[in-house]
Amino acid sequence: MEIRIAEHAGACFGVNRALDIVRKAADGSHQVYTLGPLIHNPRVVDELARGGVHSAESLDGIPSGATVVIRSHGVVPQVITDALDAGLVVDDATCPLVKRVHKAAEELHGDGYRVVVVGEKGHAEVEGICAYAGPDAVVAIDPSELPDDLPPKVGVVVQTTQSAAALQAIVEALRPKVEDLQLRNTICLATRQRQQAAAALAAQADVMIVIGGRNSGNTRRLVAICSEACPRTHHIESQDELDPAWFEGARVVGITAGASTPADHIHAVVAALEALR
Ligand code: SF4
Repeated sequence: MEIRIAEHAGACFGVNRALDIVRKAADGSHQVYTLGPLIHNPRVVDELARGGVHSAESLDGIPSGATVVIRSHGVVPQVITDALDAGLVVDDATCPLVKRVHKAAEELHGDGYRVVVVGEKGHAEVEGICAYAGPDAVVAIDPSELPDDLPPKVGVVVQTTQSAAALQAIVEALRPKVEDLQLRNTICLATRQRQQAAAALAAQADVMIVIGGRNSGNTRRLVAICSEACPRTHHIESQDELDPAWFEGARVVGITAGASTPADHIHAVVAALEALR
């Protein structure tokens, strides 16, 4: 049984940066909180909690003087204002590539376009983008969610971890309906590389293992992409979930991992698979 790891897999630049920022903050004398779990990976969040990094659901639960780390997903700007007003120290770990989406949405809205945000309603990153996209911004992940009353000028931005297929479906639905369609493809490079590498490896593999939090949207999209080419695709959070029966008769096992999966979690899965050979 040959084990192959996707060319691009696991923790991305923005997640590693956020982890560095929070670990550095936790070294100091301040109490450290994140607004919501730092990343969509319960194992990492548990590790951080053991290191004294708390996760708060809102600013109300954070004592004055503490440090609050803004996650890589970003927030609506009012949250940062409120945190400073509440006497908190703010460490902003918003990924620069998410800030690029904020800027694109703000420019389109400023130029008179109604902004369509391709993404998941309620996702923290999407909520942050909407704060820059104007009060009439639309969030849609499927063409059926687009309104009928679209103006002649529509601008499109995308949640950084969305799939190219979701974006393409929305753009194709909009094209015949609006006169001036402006597209800003803000799917980040790390996402595109992970999705392309996962698809390429799944096409060669008898079994695919996708590692990452079950609450991680980008990991679930990797599962969907791999499942198209490799029906024997399994989503796990840790090596403890591997079932030897999955690998019966398999010659090539492929591994990929979501953008919030640290390298040591991938290595642990590889070690567990090597022990099965
Ligand atoms: S997935 Fe992309 S945008 Fe999101 S944190 Fe990683 S690098 Fe940044």
